Amino acid sequence: MKPADPESIQKAIGMAQNAPCVLCGKLSGKGTLVSFVPDDSQEYGAAEGQKRMIFYNLCSECSRAPRAFKRAEEIIKNATGKEQQK
Ligand SMILES: [Zn+2]
Repeated sequence: MKPADPESIQKAIGMAQNAPCVLCGKLSGKGTLVSFVPDDSQEYGAAEGQKRMIFYNLCSECSRAPRAFKRAEEIIKNATGKEQQK
């Protein structure tokens, strides 16, 4: 397995910080940056044998909503899954 390249991690963090909230789509400068490593990276579009680290942004309202992280992970999984099917 290839170790994660720190430069691409930095890039991913930067992109997530400027991205709108995953749940409501609102742009929020004071959002919460969340990262997670899925149990099954392939479900999130990673190549076989590769781990994928996901970064996303939640606005302060959504980050307090019930099951916010779970819902956000579902949305990201659906989005990356579709990307994979192209
Ligand atoms: Zn939100």
